[in-house]
Amino acid sequence: KLFNEVQELKGNIRVYCRVRPFLPGQDKKSTTIDYMGENGELLITNPFKQGKDGHRMFKFNKVFNPFASQAEVFSDIQPLVRSVLDGFNVCIFAYGQTGSGKTYTMSGPSTSKQDWGVNFRALNDLFDISLSRRNAFSYEVGVQMVEIYNEQVRDLLSNDIAQRRLGIWSTSQPNGLVVPDASLHPVKSTSDVLDLMEIGQANRAVGSTALNERSSRSHSILTVHVRGLDLKNGSTSRGCLHLIDLAGSERVEKSEVTGDRLKEAQYINKSLSALGDVIFALAQKSAHVPYRNSKLTQVLQSSLGNQLLHFLGQVFTYSYVSHHRC
Ligand code: ADP
Ligand code: MG
Repeated sequence: KLFNEVQELKGNIRVYCRVRPFLPGQDKKSTTIDYMGENGELLITNPFKQGKDGHRMFKFNKVFNPFASQAEVFSDIQPLVRSVLDGFNVCIFAYGQTGSGKTYTMSGPSTSKQDWGVNFRALNDLFDISLSRRNAFSYEVGVQMVEIYNEQVRDLLSNDIAQRRLGIWSTSQPNGLVVPDASLHPVKSTSDVLDLMEIGQANRAVGSTALNERSSRSHSILTVHVRGLDLKNGSTSRGCLHLIDLAGSERVEKSEVTGDRLKEAQYINKSLSALGDVIFALAQKSAHVPYRNSKLTQVLQSSLGNQLLHFLGQVFTYSYVSHHRC
């Protein structure tokens, strides 16, 4: 459902599919990809479903095949990331079942440079560009990292455990922060970011399900705030980049869960469908956008909606990237 709604938003929104390789021991008969087109077509056969139901055709902006490198995936979204330096707001979501490769795409399987996911590459690129523009612009970059687990927002970078759980925040953002109570950490280099990400990852809530030993049952949001100062005319810009590793989109019954795990799954389903509803309402240019139905959409409200238009007094376009896995 989310995927279909995402597709409705043409222009502002791009949907990429990255097909990961089979993992050792994985049943290769479970799903067959029959066709991956140059223009983003993907044809899938499910051998457990007979007839027409067994075949599905999808159309994405682009499909990355299992051999696509981290660098190739990043190069497609690099222009969006760079637009943040010019005061644009960008959201990049990784969406898919547990085990489909969201964390691999967003963070990477290790911190060695060729393995870097979108997160590190994005920040590295922002630092590179800001360095190359240093005679004309001065940029300040800060990061926040929050997690939404069972509809609780938690600051993953707070030293103080008692402070991690964030209360209700105001939606008017006087200082331009999306989650004003979350700690904001100035960063000057990719190594600063790597250190922070390590702390943040260690603080993420993980649990085990039948689908994956250490599956992520929470949404993690890395927000990069960039403030630019034009040294010639003194004008300022403010952009922000949300890099979101969503919780697994699998259906509850598949994970064979009960008790606490069932509650987690229900919260996840609720927030993913709320995200779909918000994107759908935006696509329809609906007067009412139901941001308040989940913490995820509340946290992202300023980047998904258009309040900041007035705040910054400049024209925005919004870009959303979602990864859909098969
Ligand atoms: P998710 O975050 O969606 O639950 P992961 O990113 O943890 O999934 O990926 C699940 C497994 O698949 C991991 O072992 C990961 O290293 C591997 N994997 C995912 N994507 C790729 C890829 N493009 N190439 C190689 N291995 C991958
Ligand atoms: Mg993950």
